[in-house]
Amino acid sequence: MDQIVQQIAAYRQEIESLEIGSPQQLEEYRIKFLGTKGIVKALFGEMRNVPNEQKKAFGQVLNEFKQFAEAKYEGAKEVADNGPQAADDIDLSLPGDPLVAGSRHPINLVRKRIIDIFHRLGFAVADGPEVEDDWHNFTALNLPEHHPARDMQDTFYISQNPDWLLRTHTSNVQTREMEKGQLPIRIICPGRVYRNETISARAHCFFHQVEGLYIDEHVSFADLKQTLYFFVQELFGKDVKVRFRPSYFPFTEPSAEMDISCLICGGKGCRVCKHSGWVEILGCGMVHPRVLENCGIDANKYTGYAFGMGIERITMLQYGINDLRLFSENDLRFLKQFTGAV
Ligand SMILES: [Zn+2]
Repeated sequence: MDQIVQQIAAYRQEIESLEIGSPQQLEEYRIKFLGTKGIVKALFGEMRNVPNEQKKAFGQVLNEFKQFAEAKYEGAKEVADNGPQAADDIDLSLPGDPLVAGSRHPINLVRKRIIDIFHRLGFAVADGPEVEDDWHNFTALNLPEHHPARDMQDTFYISQNPDWLLRTHTSNVQTREMEKGQLPIRIICPGRVYRNETISARAHCFFHQVEGLYIDEHVSFADLKQTLYFFVQELFGKDVKVRFRPSYFPFTEPSAEMDISCLICGGKGCRVCKHSGWVEILGCGMVHPRVLENCGIDANKYTGYAFGMGIERITMLQYGINDLRLFSENDLRFLKQFTGAV
């Protein structure tokens, strides 16, 4: 069998170096390799002399060779049929092939809407690194090592340096802005964040957040409520209702979760809102004085509020999307549905 395989390799080389320049040469090639008495056919005839245990491997070699020989023929035939195209044959005045117009990714659409609303309230966009150190992601935000709340935000660490990690929230941007010491601060931080989560319809190892931070003298919880109330009305419409529930975050005190009335059922109760009529959309609170002090801000003089939301969650609510994985699968059937959106 080795001998035949070597022979096939030699044929392959012959075909590779062959230049077929005329219809006559093309026909000669067809007869020699692909004809009823051609080489390919003859090689298949050798199959019966191959021991049973080698038949499968030999068959594979043969099939590959056959496809190779046929591809050469098809390629040469196409050139012979159409003829080589000369440069002056091209009519440059003809309209070109239309370019397929893409569309914005739904996450980007909603991200842009959120940014636009906060822009109108005077918030600037701030950016920061996705690979962060422990201090800016956790410790400065009142999440010291061994703090139980760290368990809720398990992430990916860099093995060469355990102090580095993929940020679990965009709060690291807040830390960095506060450390700059230029007050007042009024920023939103949109960006990608990471969690060590099992991927499912409701959770992913990465997603997007927008967080906001406002620090100045005399900032109160009333400012926070009014800002967020304005935001949801702009995003979801004037009819939406909001409610605040007390909650816990290490970096804010007091802390709250904000719910909006369910957009699907209007508050009557449905599967999306788990028949409660309310859907949770963000967490918020007054910045913990210890966080201010950690970042070098005088907590006796300044107060501030912060909030954070997942862009995926809001996008799912707005468009009635029920599986988080759709956002990162690059399935055009899904993405094309947003072509008309701006
Ligand atoms: Zn509902």
